[in-house]
Amino acid sequence: MTYSYDQLAQWDKQYVWHPFTQMKDWLEEEIIIVARGEGVKLYDTEGREYYDAFSSIWVNIHGHNVKELNDAIIDQLGKIAHSSYLGYGNIPATLLARELVEIAPPGLVKVFYSDNGSTAVEVAVKMAFHYWRQCPNPRPEKNKFLTLMNAYHGDTIGAVSVGGIDLYHGTYRDLLFPTIKVAAPYCYRCPFGAKAGQCEKECEQALEKAFAEHAHELAGCVIEPVIQGAAGMITQPPGYVKKVRELCDRYDVLMICDEVATGFGRTGALWAVNHDGVSPDLMAISKGLTGGYMPLAVTLATQKVYDAFYGDYAEMKTFFHGHSYTGNQLGCAVALASLELLKKHNLVTEAARKAGVVKKVLAEFNELPHVGDIRQAGLMVGIELVRDKLTKEPYDWQEKMGIKTCLAARKKGLITRPLGNNIVFMPPLVSNDEQLQEMLEIIKASIIQVTEG
Ligand code: PMP
Repeated sequence: MTYSYDQLAQWDKQYVWHPFTQMKDWLEEEIIIVARGEGVKLYDTEGREYYDAFSSIWVNIHGHNVKELNDAIIDQLGKIAHSSYLGYGNIPATLLARELVEIAPPGLVKVFYSDNGSTAVEVAVKMAFHYWRQCPNPRPEKNKFLTLMNAYHGDTIGAVSVGGIDLYHGTYRDLLFPTIKVAAPYCYRCPFGAKAGQCEKECEQALEKAFAEHAHELAGCVIEPVIQGAAGMITQPPGYVKKVRELCDRYDVLMICDEVATGFGRTGALWAVNHDGVSPDLMAISKGLTGGYMPLAVTLATQKVYDAFYGDYAEMKTFFHGHSYTGNQLGCAVALASLELLKKHNLVTEAARKAGVVKKVLAEFNELPHVGDIRQAGLMVGIELVRDKLTKEPYDWQEKMGIKTCLAARKKGLITRPLGNNIVFMPPLVSNDEQLQEMLEIIKASIIQVTEG
């Protein structure tokens, strides 16, 4: 049975409530209904093609409709789609756990499955809180989290609590557990008033001060290492992640890294923490885990954390957390196939090389009168549009410059989503040099059209 665009659009608008979307706008818009994907392109019901320049909300690595990934799912479907992970193991989840521990930053040796990035962070936060109640020398007073302003860790209540973006999180403040919040680095608009390149690492000093003041009550410190994604792709100065590790060690605080967006080669290293050569105590991964094919997430933990939960049942040390779809076979099977492709095509090294290509093209964007800042970590890019380049005056959010630019790009055959006044460029890792170039040309033309048009 095939349905017309008009019919589908009508049903969408009648029945669906879309995420992160003002439905009034949605109902008034001409919507796109994606019908299929092929490589780095998406095709709508009307046969129009678009570059998937934000990797379908930052998840896609190998492109769409990839035979090896399709086959992995089909093969697994012929065996079983899902069985309970509560009380039973399964083959793909076991194999994937082994594989993940092998490639994880050193010391992360246990795999706890869940379904999405938010839950992977939620699990890490609960584990860290719980850890201090039953580690060898319990310190239950260590029950708070140090978090960064502008952080985004997902939309469940725990993940929102450790987040710091007012637009998404402010409404729920009364419902959230309080955290110790420290200003995050943002070199273009330094919250400490320092000038990029001439600072005294005030952001690190602020961190140090917060640790010194609050260590006695800190269970963990949660960060998006190297780059804060949803905040607007805000990169941290080199060494910042290492500093967090040093402070966590010095003050006996668990380091929780949210690599949901940055994992699997996205920043030009397998893990963003690799850039600073550190290992966290807990690490949340998701998005790229299945190559963008199935919902799956993992919280990786150290032996030390795991051991705190280990004991006789009567000791009541059990981590009582789990989801119906924990360890889902289809997700784990396609994740295994995705990792194989990642290795086979040397995609992490390739992503680092391609980041160089992107950087070169992006350098030309600096000439544009309304491009204020360009931030890049591998193939994770944010282009900040400003009203006034000299004063860095931002566009008023009501002007929707980010949204307008992305709509202009869509008309030119490219799909991405803005973050406020920041244009996101986060292509699938398999995009070739020519495609990267073409995508950036479309984005550049769209910026010029909207800001100078
Ligand atoms: N953490 C980070 C750093 C993210 O970027 C995201 C999603 N953009 C999440 C957590 C939440 O992941 P999910 O949307 O899968 O719940």
